[in-house]
Amino acid sequence: MDGQDAVAGRYPAADVREQALARLREEGGRITPARRLLLDAITSPGHHTAGELAETVRASAPGVHVTTIYRNLDELERLRLVDRTYISNGPATYHMASVAHGHLACESCGAIADLPGEAFATLHDAAMSMYGFEISPARFAIPGRCARCT
Ligand SMILES: [Zn+2]
Ligand SMILES: [Zn+2]
Repeated sequence: MDGQDAVAGRYPAADVREQALARLREEGGRITPARRLLLDAITSPGHHTAGELAETVRASAPGVHVTTIYRNLDELERLRLVDRTYISNGPATYHMASVAHGHLACESCGAIADLPGEAFATLHDAAMSMYGFEISPARFAIPGRCARCT
């Protein structure tokens, strides 16, 4: 699944990947070649499903089993290095948590646009003051119509 990763694009992918590797080391996680390739795939522009990430990793390392890739993805999510995002009714896509941002998803043509996390400040404050609820904008997409489809 693709989209303009305008927000993620502001952060050099290499920096984001190195930060994630450092966190992984801190958490006592092993840095395996498969994990490195997986982080490369996640930090590449766009919104990737687990299947697409597995395909990318296996293109460079065909010996890595798909289940190993999925297990590593779960581990990165558990360590909160990676966010799982649901865009419309499609399968989950993955982002680095350090470049958290929200999404707009066009219900007509399927276009995806990224919104900076700050765009959710008012909603965040309202949910927090009313319910003590911490919203996770990076994990969902707001449906609507894009400029071309209205
Ligand atoms: Zn559209
Ligand atoms: Zn995005």
